[in-house]
Amino acid sequence: MNCYYCGKPKTSYEHVPPKCIFFENTDGSINRNGLITVPSCEEHNSEKQKDDEYFRFLLVMSIHSSGVHGTLNIDKFFRALNRTPHVFSSFIINPQQVFVKHESQIEYKPTIIYEPDIPRYHKIIKQICIGLFFHTYGTVFSGHIDIAYDGTMSLSDQMINDNQKELINTINILGKGIPFLGKNEDIFKYKLIDNCNKVYLLLVFYQTNEMIIRMTRT
Ligand SMILES: [Zn+2]
Repeated sequence: MNCYYCGKPKTSYEHVPPKCIFFENTDGSINRNGLITVPSCEEHNSEKQKDDEYFRFLLVMSIHSSGVHGTLNIDKFFRALNRTPHVFSSFIINPQQVFVKHESQIEYKPTIIYEPDIPRYHKIIKQICIGLFFHTYGTVFSGHIDIAYDGTMSLSDQMINDNQKELINTINILGKGIPFLGKNEDIFKYKLIDNCNKVYLLLVFYQTNEMIIRMTRT
């Protein structure tokens, strides 16, 4: 077996998406049924742990701010964040204090906003897609990948442009009847739509964070 990313001989296996995002539920039940793994070489497995943590950080901040994390036990994550802030400080770029309030609340509360490291974040998403491609077809993906729509980084529906709206419609039509895959759907599920020279991946993290990735084969 060869590395999912570069095709060199494998030295280990790698979880796709990262294992660390599979939180347990608040009732103690585990969300780690049949996790996907792909063979990986040394280079494409080491170095990844911090990226995995960063990816989880962005996802959790997103679901936390949207208030939809519901039954997921993410308190442990916040305890670790409070206990070892130095570990997480590298994730926070240009922090600024702002005051926000939810429409149901009266008082404004202090919080911080920061700049996400988009190149790093996109690199991680692309690795996940290359991993899912390998898991599906058993070959290393060769071609171009673009993140066509990312609901995690959009603050509201108004930020979706016409091209993205059209793409979402197309995916809904093409993906009709294609089942979601992934055995822990509260955490992660995906749909793979193979259409001519393109593969579309619809990824859903924590039920609400949707992304559409277009992989164009060369
Ligand atoms: Zn490799």
